[in-house]
Amino acid sequence: MNASQSLIFSAELIKDASQKDTEAMPKILLVDDEPRMLSSLHEFLKPYDFHLFTANCGQDALEQLIKDKFDLVLLDMRLPDMSGLDIMNAINANSPGTDVIVISGNNDIDSAIGALKRGAFDYLRKPYAREELLKTIDNVLKQRALAKEHRRVTMQLENSEKNYRYLVDNSPDIIYALNSEGRFTFVNNRVHQLLGFTREELIGQHYSVLVHDEDIELAHFVFQERRVGERASSNVELRLKCHKAQCGSITFDNSLLTISFNSMGMYFSDTRKNSSEYFGTYGVARDITEHKRAEALITYQAYHDILTDLPNRALFKDRLGLSIIQSKRNDTRLAVMFIDLDRFKLINDTMGHVTGDELLRQVAIRLKGCLRRGDTLARIGGDEFILLMTDLKDKQDAVEVAEKFLKSLQHPFHFGSNEAQISASIGIALYPDDGSSIDELIRHADLAMYHVKARGKNGHGFYDSSMIDASHQKLALEKDLRKALERGELEMHYQPQVDSATGRVAGAEALMRWNHPEQGMLTPGEFLPYAEENGLIVPISEWMLEATLSDLAAWNNAGISPSRLSINLSPQCLERGFPKKLKDALLRYDIAPNQIEIEITENICIRNPNHAIDQLNMLSRTGVSVAIDDFGTGYSSLAYLQKFPIHTIKIDQSFVKEIIFDDTHSPIILAIISIAKELGLKLIAEGVETKLQASYLENAGCTIMQGYFYHRPLARHALTQLLVQQAP
Ligand code: C2E
Ligand code: MG
Ligand code: MG
Repeated sequence: MNASQSLIFSAELIKDASQKDTEAMPKILLVDDEPRMLSSLHEFLKPYDFHLFTANCGQDALEQLIKDKFDLVLLDMRLPDMSGLDIMNAINANSPGTDVIVISGNNDIDSAIGALKRGAFDYLRKPYAREELLKTIDNVLKQRALAKEHRRVTMQLENSEKNYRYLVDNSPDIIYALNSEGRFTFVNNRVHQLLGFTREELIGQHYSVLVHDEDIELAHFVFQERRVGERASSNVELRLKCHKAQCGSITFDNSLLTISFNSMGMYFSDTRKNSSEYFGTYGVARDITEHKRAEALITYQAYHDILTDLPNRALFKDRLGLSIIQSKRNDTRLAVMFIDLDRFKLINDTMGHVTGDELLRQVAIRLKGCLRRGDTLARIGGDEFILLMTDLKDKQDAVEVAEKFLKSLQHPFHFGSNEAQISASIGIALYPDDGSSIDELIRHADLAMYHVKARGKNGHGFYDSSMIDASHQKLALEKDLRKALERGELEMHYQPQVDSATGRVAGAEALMRWNHPEQGMLTPGEFLPYAEENGLIVPISEWMLEATLSDLAAWNNAGISPSRLSINLSPQCLERGFPKKLKDALLRYDIAPNQIEIEITENICIRNPNHAIDQLNMLSRTGVSVAIDDFGTGYSSLAYLQKFPIHTIKIDQSFVKEIIFDDTHSPIILAIISIAKELGLKLIAEGVETKLQASYLENAGCTIMQGYFYHRPLARHALTQLLVQQAP
């Protein structure tokens, strides 16, 4: 900078005194012992933008330097009380940020050099030109401004470096760089948290120390990636090894984490040669172990039944599909077994859904216990299970498993203080005999299961092609049943109950018939199970109540009434406010409640005994009596009986049927009769078909009989005739 430039710069510094912002101005201390010199210097510099101070001796200068912080000292080297060098020493010791321009006469040039050695910025020799002084001051101040800026930029850089390091080290991802040999040159702290390796352990190591052996080949592409931009590796999944000692908190596959990688090549660019040289790869790696686990869970749930943990329909079909292909190839057989629990809905309704769910879980466990290795058991609906058996030697293999299943269900299931009994109906279809596709095999096993249900449940059976017709019939029947009520196709028949001692009709059981327009007279077994399934049983039972009570009212009016009329009641109806409906109807028809007996099957009592007791009490309160139908076929223990508000036991026809020969001995019948007597219950024997049976029962102490030996169920007018005949 030449002198005139310096003056221009300096002129900019000149401001009106009133405008001066002394705070922002450079502080300059002028030190000279010659008062004239000092004041002329002060006068000269005053117009400029400086904040000026003066000292006329060394001591004064030192005091001011201690009190204040100066940007610049104009120091005369020759002072009366001390040398300029002493002041320099003091400045260096206490005010290192202060710059010094020394002013020296010819004779103290040595000390001026000493001052320069101590860091003085410049020196002026007396006498100096004023422009020269200004220029030197200007230089100092500019230099100071530069140094200040430099410090600011350095600090900014340091901060920014700190920020980057913080961001890199606290990144949720591993950030790393490798040299061209595949050795780590940089890793952030995350690697320690995730894999348990310290930075120091990894720097210089080859990446292969981290990679699971099976993934090494794939790792090569990631860790030695040379490409950049969109073509570079992204979202490549690798399994990395953890440092075992550090992996305590990470529990996955012992010590493996699944990591997703993005990586790209790093290049030095040489602008002179207009080329770039590969020197390594850097990348970001994210721990996706949790994500993978969640993904695995979602996939698992998509293919499994959450309640029982068994495979679901989708997985079952998948496995069946594969097994069909294999069977075809190997020319082997397989079986699809459809397992449906009998009367599960009843348990769900009476004991609640929580118990229902628990029962399903326990059933699943028992069924699983019967499986062979390689069999697939799935739950495909509410109470429906399905089994795939591969490599069947013959049909008998399937029979054995089905029987095992049924046997496994025989013991009661316990839920706290409650217990329940359940059986199952099992239908079996074989590949290739009964179907060649997934859906066909499932459908046919299902059909076979329905046939088992219709035959009385709790059993198993194979698919047969004749069942297809039957199933079409069933569908048609269900449709017709809805219309049967409106069209008046249902009718009540009555089977007399005869007192063998007198030969007189002591009562009658109302039995429903459906006079089907095409199929003729159908018995309840042929249509009521469907009505129970689809809920039609409720309106049908209401119709039945009206029909029987109106018939009874007519017999009463004619004075020929049987002393008692039995009505069968489906458990579903008992649930749905039947006692109240019964009471209303009895009033309407003016019928004494003791003329009516309600027949309930035994199973309703054992499924949920306490609930059943409440229900039966409600019935009893209407004044009707209650009979346990088909007694002995369920699983109730005789000891239960005394807890139930019941009046009559009906001995099931299966026991009566066993009386075939003169010397037949039936301990069950005898036990039932003796317990009924002890508990003061009435007895009725069902299905009495022969004289032999009648007399055996009579001798054993049961005198009221119902069966073809006496009468078949009769149409209303036929019973009317019979009643008229025996009227006194
Ligand atoms: P259940 O209450 O045990 O009725 C006795 C069944 O045995 C009747 O069959 C009857 O016809 C039959 N039976 C009577 N004596 C003999 C005999 O000597 N030999 C043989 N082999 N069978 C005999 P049905 O009429 O087919 O009724 C079957 C079942 O349907 C009944 O069994 C009953 O549980 C149910 N049921 C009948 N009517 C109704 C009704 O109105 N409502 C409800 N919910 N169920 C009904
Ligand atoms: Mg009955
Ligand atoms: Mg019966």
